Amino acid sequence: MTFVAFDPASRRHDVPSHPETAARAEAILAAFASDARASSFPLLGPDRLLTREEALRVHTPRLWLNLENHARDEGALLDPDTYMVAGSFDAARGTARVGLQAVDRSLEHSEPGFVVARPPGHHATADRSMGFCLLNNVALAARHALDRGAHRVLVFDHDVHHGNGTQDIFYGSCDVLYQSFHLAPHYPGTGAVDETGSGDGQGFTMNAPLPKGTGDAEVRSLLANVFLPAARAWRPDVVLVSSGFDSLAEDPLGGLELTAPFFGEMVSAFRALTPRVVCFLEGGYQLDEIPKAALSEVHALDDPGRFPGGKTRAAPVESALRGALADHWSL
Ligand SMILES: [Zn+2]
Repeated sequence: MTFVAFDPASRRHDVPSHPETAARAEAILAAFASDARASSFPLLGPDRLLTREEALRVHTPRLWLNLENHARDEGALLDPDTYMVAGSFDAARGTARVGLQAVDRSLEHSEPGFVVARPPGHHATADRSMGFCLLNNVALAARHALDRGAHRVLVFDHDVHHGNGTQDIFYGSCDVLYQSFHLAPHYPGTGAVDETGSGDGQGFTMNAPLPKGTGDAEVRSLLANVFLPAARAWRPDVVLVSSGFDSLAEDPLGGLELTAPFFGEMVSAFRALTPRVVCFLEGGYQLDEIPKAALSEVHALDDPGRFPGGKTRAAPVESALRGALADHWSL
């Protein structure tokens, strides 16, 4: 059965004037609670805080020390976008920890899950918290899956922003395949087509920068022609999704034009590869729209067959991306 994971203590990581508020998670949880199917999903909470040792599987001692130093501050800024209040450090640790438990549950029981993760994670590099992200939840989860015996972890990132942190952490690894589409040019500026990995990781980073206004039809084509054929050939043991809903049309921090049902369709395509799919909330700032996309994703996790495709239109980047990956994949 599909499960939901959430750290109630993440509610204390909140600055109401900032776009990344606790109300985002509340809106999603309320939608799950009032949905006939999702309201029956078991809710997993953290058994404890993430330890320093667990964090250092991905992050540097310097990043951890920086978070520790601000753990009691009210209103610290780690960069112009990234706040900490008292409770933020524990929120990040509880959320990252429940992400590891979600991976355990998914691997042990072959179950999919959705982690209502706050603070988000995909911009945090090994050494630096940034872009609203303190610890990289998905990277910690991917490393944990490998430590638990998974051999191939696929990370699919559909946030409107490039997941520079996740890419950076696994850039030289051939056991984590990172696939991202994102608006370009846009924050944080990384994620070009020719960023395909280094050393053993060559070919294991796939980036599709998309122009403003790109919608479902182009992303559907990109998945059908590049991301999914690679995923099928590679046969991941587990799929982790960086579920950023700021790629929805009209997002105040976005510029892509995806519709809420399309999020279910994307997740459904990966869910068809394996039941071990765990989604992690990243961005998404329209309180009335993100619950629709999140519901669509959990419905796809639970019942992947019900998301038919629609029109396709090749994104301009598609052939360039196939070319950049031609030495590594038959696409
Ligand atoms: Zn984002």
